[in-house]
Amino acid sequence: MSVFTKIISGEIPSYKVAENDDFIAFLDINPNAEGHTLVVPKKEVDKLFDLSKEEYNALMSFSYKVAKAIEKAVPCLRVGMSVIGLEVPHVHVHLIPLNEMADIQFSKKVKLSKDEFQSLAASISENLEI
Ligand code: AMP
Repeated sequence: MSVFTKIISGEIPSYKVAENDDFIAFLDINPNAEGHTLVVPKKEVDKLFDLSKEEYNALMSFSYKVAKAIEKAVPCLRVGMSVIGLEVPHVHVHLIPLNEMADIQFSKKVKLSKDEFQSLAASISENLEI
C-alpha cells in the first residue's frame, strides 16, 4: 500500500486542498516552493501511462482546476507541472508555483511551518471552482 493510499484512507494526515470521488490533491510535505501540490488518483496505479486514457484525461482535468486555484492563491509567475514518481510508486501530478527555473528542479526545497502549510491549503481550497 502506498503512502498516498494511506493519506486517502485517512491513516496518515495531509494538508488537503481538493477531493472528489476519484482524486485528491494535497500539499507536498517537502515542497520545492510554497503551494507545491500533488494531485493523486484514489485508485493506486504506479505509472502515469498505465492509466487508461479516460483516467488520464480525468486526472488532467482535475489538475487543471487545482492549478487555477493555486494561481489565484499563491503569488507566482506561473504554475508548472511535472510527473516523476521515482520516490512514490502511485501516480501523482506535481503542480508547482514557479518564480524561477530552480522551483521545478527538485533540489531547491522550502521549509514551512504547520501554520504555513495549513494556511496555504486553505487559501488554495478557497479558490477552487469545482
Ligand atoms: P516522486 O515520486 O519522485 O514524484 O516524489 C514524491 C513526492 O511525494 C515528493 O515530492 C515528496 O516530498 C512527496 N511526499 C512523500 N510523502 C509525502 C506525504 N506523506 N505527504 C505529502 N507529500 C509527500
